[in-house]
Amino acid sequence: AQPDSPAHVAILPSPGMGHLIPLAELAKRLVHQHNFSITFVIPTDGSPSKAQRSVLGSLPSTIRSVFLPPVNLSDLPEDVKIETTISLTVARSLPSLRDVFRSLADRGNRAVALVVDLFGTDAFDVAREFNVSPYIFFPSTAMALSLFFHLPKLDEMVSCEYREMKEPVKIPGCLPIHGGELLDPAQDRKNDAYKWLLHHTKRYRLAEGVMVNSFTDLEKGALQALREVEAGKPAVYPVGPLVNMDSSTGGEGSDQCLKWLDDQPHGSVLFVSFGSGGTLSLDQITELALGLETSEQRFLWVARSPNDAVSNATFFSVDSHEDPFNFLPKGFLERTKGRGLVVPSWAPQPQVLSHGSTGGFLTHCGWNSTLESVVNGVPLIVWPLYAEQKMNAWMLTQDIKVGLRPKASDNGLIGREEIANVVRGLMEGEEGKRVRNRMKDLKEAAARVLLSTEDGSLSELARRWKNQKWN
Ligand code: UDP
Repeated sequence: AQPDSPAHVAILPSPGMGHLIPLAELAKRLVHQHNFSITFVIPTDGSPSKAQRSVLGSLPSTIRSVFLPPVNLSDLPEDVKIETTISLTVARSLPSLRDVFRSLADRGNRAVALVVDLFGTDAFDVAREFNVSPYIFFPSTAMALSLFFHLPKLDEMVSCEYREMKEPVKIPGCLPIHGGELLDPAQDRKNDAYKWLLHHTKRYRLAEGVMVNSFTDLEKGALQALREVEAGKPAVYPVGPLVNMDSSTGGEGSDQCLKWLDDQPHGSVLFVSFGSGGTLSLDQITELALGLETSEQRFLWVARSPNDAVSNATFFSVDSHEDPFNFLPKGFLERTKGRGLVVPSWAPQPQVLSHGSTGGFLTHCGWNSTLESVVNGVPLIVWPLYAEQKMNAWMLTQDIKVGLRPKASDNGLIGREEIANVVRGLMEGEEGKRVRNRMKDLKEAAARVLLSTEDGSLSELARRWKNQKWN
């Protein structure tokens, strides 16, 4: 490379839009504010999805993407957990990752750093072979990261399932939390998913640094604990909030949502969405629909087909050509017309959350969704579904108190009356006012971080990488 050519960073996103989206934001920040060049190296078990292409396609030209040849996962059992699939996709891509690193080195374009996310630590070995420094981008909370560093110890100390522990788990820097609320792969210690989780958490210490998508005003205690110097623990850089604020990734149906929002009163609409992968059972969808109806509030709902009816799956998909919402209660759409808008599959979420008419967000608590709500000051109703979302929900309601949580009844469903009460409570009630005010404070804190020209932690890291280039 020429002495004045930008330093180069390789980024390896593990499968999942929730991983790719914040890494794309990180890449943009590194290019625009710190003059790096970037190569995305993408492991996959199939051809790239439309959503992946659209995110990568919208990036500036200094950000290249290389799709690694798809790995074969056909030997995995039907009930394999997502953490296992992700880890194996990365592990089986190492030979082709090595080829990419070799060709970069041959062209004199060696990367100074390789950035992986959550479950990508197996790629560290290849990075080391090529004298490239290994880093982690952690696309979730400082709380979850603190648990990751703590897990090898917890694993040694506790012999039962974590959910059976009498005492709550003390994650360093965080309010104690019940073991049953820990992330999904920690809920069955005999499953391969837990073994992979433990494997990665042990390898976190091999990283030279860990970026976490959070900021001090949001997670003071956890970040303090993470930044305590300890032998063998990598430096932690809070680089958040890194969120997608781009208006170009809306997809179909995007105009419809935004036009409809334009016609609603300020702060009156509850946005209801469960992220890129969340689905509910048919019974739960019915309760949610009737709860929204009973609340008499305005809503914009991204409704997906139910997930509990495997034997009915074709039934839904066949009928969906004519009526994609035939899983909704009879007459629901007519009765809520004007006050509610239901859209299939995908909404331009960043724009919806920044729209003045949006006054609340019923969310599955995916961390990207949560941060997008924070930067827009939109208070939450928390409805965690999978991954680490229960931990996020717990932190959001018990610690920083920016959300309300509906309670499930004995049958495991969240009932329509409960939903209606919580929705009214958020949009009109006193409790809603309190969480709204706290969310406003957080929004201002986030804005201060986003506006500061010296973006603290990331600048520090960028300097470190640039110095490394010349050594
Ligand atoms: N998203 C979107 N429209 C949708 C659903 C999701 O734009 O209808 C985006 C959302 O803005 C966020 C990401 O997809 O950036 C979802 O990430 P998150 O971490 O919230 O949840 P995950 O999908 O990983 O569970």
